[in-house]
Amino acid sequence: MLHQIDNTNQPAADKAVPLRQLLHKKPLLIAGPCSAESREQVLLAAQLLRDTHKVDILRAGIWKPRTRPGNFEGMGEAALPWIQEAQALTGLPVAIEVASAKQVELALKYDCSVLWIGARSTANPFSVQEIADALKGVDVPVFIKNPVSPDIDLWVGALERVEKAGVKNIGLIHRGFSFYGRSEYRNAPTWKLALEMKRRYPQLAFLVDPSHICGKRELLKEVMQSAIDLDYDGIMIESHPHPDEALSDAAQQVTPARLVALLDDIIWRKETDSSEEIQEKLARYRRIIDHVDDDILNLLSRRMQIAAEIGLFKKKHNLTILQTARWNETLDRLTALTEKLNLSPEFIKQYYDAIHMESIAHQDKVMNETPKKS
Ligand code: PEP
Ligand code: MN
Repeated sequence: MLHQIDNTNQPAADKAVPLRQLLHKKPLLIAGPCSAESREQVLLAAQLLRDTHKVDILRAGIWKPRTRPGNFEGMGEAALPWIQEAQALTGLPVAIEVASAKQVELALKYDCSVLWIGARSTANPFSVQEIADALKGVDVPVFIKNPVSPDIDLWVGALERVEKAGVKNIGLIHRGFSFYGRSEYRNAPTWKLALEMKRRYPQLAFLVDPSHICGKRELLKEVMQSAIDLDYDGIMIESHPHPDEALSDAAQQVTPARLVALLDDIIWRKETDSSEEIQEKLARYRRIIDHVDDDILNLLSRRMQIAAEIGLFKKKHNLTILQTARWNETLDRLTALTEKLNLSPEFIKQYYDAIHMESIAHQDKVMNETPKKS
C-alpha cells in the first residue's frame, strides 16, 4: 500500500497514493540505510521505518560510489531481491541510486520504484546521458542530487538530460558540495546555490539530504530545521537499525527511533496560511519592504552617478580609479557602524565589495570610454 497526499505539514504515511503523486506530498520523507548490507538488515530497517508511520519512501544504496577504493562498495545485484522483498513486506516504494545504464536496467528488472542519480554521477555529463538514455520510455520517478562541485550548470544539465529522456516525475536533492579545507560539515550546504536551483524549478520536489551534508549525526537537526525554514519539500535521510555497525557512512546514520525523535523535534513551518488576517499583516510588512528596496535602489543609483562624476574628475587630473587607503578607510568606517546598526560585518563587507566593484566599473566607463567614430 502506498501513501496518501498529506498537506498538514507533518510527515505521515499510512494512506495510499499513486507513486507519481508522491513527489507532490509535502513534507516527503525518504529514509533508509546508506547501503543495503544483508537481507536481514534491509528487511529490519524497512519494517522499523514503516512502523514509524512517517516514512514515505525507503532508500538503500546497492552500488556505492566510494571516493576512494578499498571501502565497502555495496552488495550489487545480489541485494536487489532484498529490495523487492522490502517493498512487498512494507508496501513502501524503495529508492536506489543508479550510476550506469546497466544499473538502471537491473533496478527496473527488480521493480525498484524510485531511482536517484548520485552526486558523483551528476557531476559527469557522460554518466548522466547514459542513465538518461536508459530511462527513455520508462515511467519511474527520478531524483537528481546536486553535483559534488558547487556548479549549478552541471545540476541543471543533468536535469535537462533526464527531462529530455521523457522522465515525467523528477525531484531534486540538495546533499551539499565538496570543498577544500576544514569545516564542521562533510559537504558544505552552500544554501545560496541550492536556493537558486529551487527558485529556478519551483515545480519540482526539492529535498534536503542532511546526512551527506553533515557527515555526523549531531549536526542533522540543525540542517533539517534550516531546510524546513527554507520551505524545502522534504528530506532524504540515512537511517540504519545499528548505525555504529554500518558498513558505510556510520557516523551520519541514525536509528529509526532517533529519526522519529529528530522529526518530532523539528518545527514544521508552512509557506502560506489561509487566514486573511495573517495574509494581510504579512502583505503590510511586505509593502514596507518594497518601499525600502526602492529607496535602496534609488540611493545606489545616486551613488553610481556620483562615482561617474568622480571618474570624470580623476580623468581630468590623471588620478587612479582605486586609491587603496581611501577604500580601507571607507571599509573601517562602515564596519564600525555595523554593530550599532545590527548588521553583520561579513554581510557589509560582501555588500560593499559588490558596490565598490560596480563603482569602479562606472568610473572605468567614463575614464576609458573610447570616443565613438562619427
Ligand atoms: C548516498 O546517498 O548514499 C550517496 C552516495 O550520496 P551522494 O551521491 O550524495 O554522495
Ligand atoms: Mn551514504
